[in-house]
Order: sequence, then structure tokens, then C-alpha cells
Amino acid sequence: PFCPSVCSYCSFSSGPLDRWKEKVDAYVDALCKELEFIAERSKNKKLNTIYIGGGTPTTLTAEQLERLMSWIDEKFSREYLLEYTVEAGRPDSITEEKLKVIKNHDITRISINPQSMQQKTLDVIGRKHTVEEIKEAYALARKTGFDNINMDIIAGLPGEDISDMEDTLAQIAQMHPDSLTVHSLAIKRAARMEREDLNRDAKETHEILSGMIERAAKAAKEMDLFPYYLYRQKNIAGNFENVGYAKVDKAGIYNILIMEEKQSIIAAGAGASTKIVLKDPIPMPGSKKKKMTRLIRQENVKAVDAYIDRIDEMIERKGEWLWH
Ligand code: SF4
Repeated sequence: PFCPSVCSYCSFSSGPLDRWKEKVDAYVDALCKELEFIAERSKNKKLNTIYIGGGTPTTLTAEQLERLMSWIDEKFSREYLLEYTVEAGRPDSITEEKLKVIKNHDITRISINPQSMQQKTLDVIGRKHTVEEIKEAYALARKTGFDNINMDIIAGLPGEDISDMEDTLAQIAQMHPDSLTVHSLAIKRAARMEREDLNRDAKETHEILSGMIERAAKAAKEMDLFPYYLYRQKNIAGNFENVGYAKVDKAGIYNILIMEEKQSIIAAGAGASTKIVLKDPIPMPGSKKKKMTRLIRQENVKAVDAYIDRIDEMIERKGEWLWH
């Protein structure tokens, strides 16, 4: 849950590294404790995908990443593993040393997220890195041997027009990512950003966004990336969707599984959301006839301090459901 700086549109519970620096080791300790419990309790389950993400995992130092990934290797079986993703979202968190650590642990897929290739936009949304750094991080990842790299972009960022999106897509096409995820900015978040272009009326916003999304779909096709998953969040501008495009055999398996809700996702860390798919429906409390949904959600506390302090409670809360 740490990032080099917090982007103005962030919907995660991520905090700036400067503020939390002293707590990161304690956080990794707590995380490892929760992971150990999960590994122990889910020994009879087949682990298909691992996803380290939300916030920017590569904000950890190379040593901290090494500690976390070695722990995961030690505790979990890879017998049924199909995919292992690490979000290296912010280019300003990526170094050669960290990429080597990730590669040495046989991570199969990483994500380097520009959001926009327009410097004016990166500055406005508080990304605190340059367009050049995105290209350098991407080239470094290829050099380190990653052959499945995703890139995320956002349509509807403040001050952007269709021509900005076209330019972003053209620059991304030159990098040849294996998958591209196109998000539409959620309206609530856009409002929080005090965007100057909120003066645009709804019709104009809709036209611009649909133009951007259309261009993204066209560009993805030209990059040989095909749509493979789609989801909608509440209050997305213009009621558009988020769409994932990928080359054949490079689709993010975890992305598909999380949308399908047919497989349990056991999540660890601050703000992590576990979804347990029960084998059978369970009786609804207070009713003899009605049965409850087969999906149980269990959320960890979001605040880093509270997660570290209350780690035993987080583990205990998970306990009963992991038996299913
Ligand atoms: S990189 Fe992602 S998680 Fe981190 S602050 Fe920006 S939007 Fe939030």
C-alpha cells in the first residue's frame, strides 16, 4: 500500500512512501505472517494465480522484495500455478536491481503503468515521473527478460483531449506491450481532482470519452491486442467500461478469474479484499428457508498502522472461511 507519491485519482488506500518509510519493514513482517497462515490453511487448495498489486509493490526496496518473494516461494506450492503477476506500476519505483529480484523469482507477468504519455497530464495528476522514465523502465524490463508486460492507461484525465489520447496510444504502440488495459476515469474521482475541464458539459465529455475509447480500441487492434475482459465501476464517466486487451496467450488470467467470481481469492495486506466462493449456499441467519450467497467477502483494515497492530485479528477473521 505504498507509492512514491499519491496520484490525485487514486482509489486505493495507498500512502506516500516518505510518510511510511519507517514502517515498511514492520508491514512486510505482518504481511508475511498473514501469508504463512493462508499457506497453512489452504494447503488442500490448488493455487492458480498470484497477484502482487494494488499500490505499488516495487516501492519496496530490492531487499524487502526479495524477502517477500522468498517467503512466498517457501510457503506456497507452484504445482498448479499458471500466472504470477507483480505490479511495477510506477516507473519511478523501478530499478534494474528490483527487476532482477522479480525475474529471479520467476514472475511471469508485470505491469508498467503510464496512465498517460503526456507530460502535462502526469504533472497535473501528481505522478512525479517523466514520460522518458516510462520508456526507460519498460526497456529495462524487456532487457531483464520479461516477455509479458501490461500497460494501463486512463481515458478522461484532466485537460486531455482526443489528440492527447492518440499521441499516448502512438507512443505505447512503439513499445509493443503484451497487454493494454484502458480505464475510464470515475466521475467522483474526476471531481476530486478539481479538473479545469469540468466546465465541459455532459454531452461534450461523453463525446470526448467515447472518442478516446474508440481510438484505444482501434489502436489495440492495430497492436494485435484483443479484448478479453471488461468491467464497470460505479460512477464511471459517461458509463463507459474498463477494458483489457491482450495478445494471444498473454491475457491476465487473474483478471478473468476476479471478474468471473467462480474461484476464491485469498488476499493479504492492508485493504486487501478476500472473496471466498463457498461450495454450497449457506442458510441465511434468521430464516429457515432462505439461503445466502455463496460468495463471502472479508476485508482487511485499510490503514497501514492498524493492519500492523491488528494483524492477529486480520488472521483470525479469515480463519473460519479458509476451511471451506
Ligand atoms: S500508483 Fe496507483 S495505487 Fe499508487 S497512488 Fe497512483 S493510483 Fe494510487
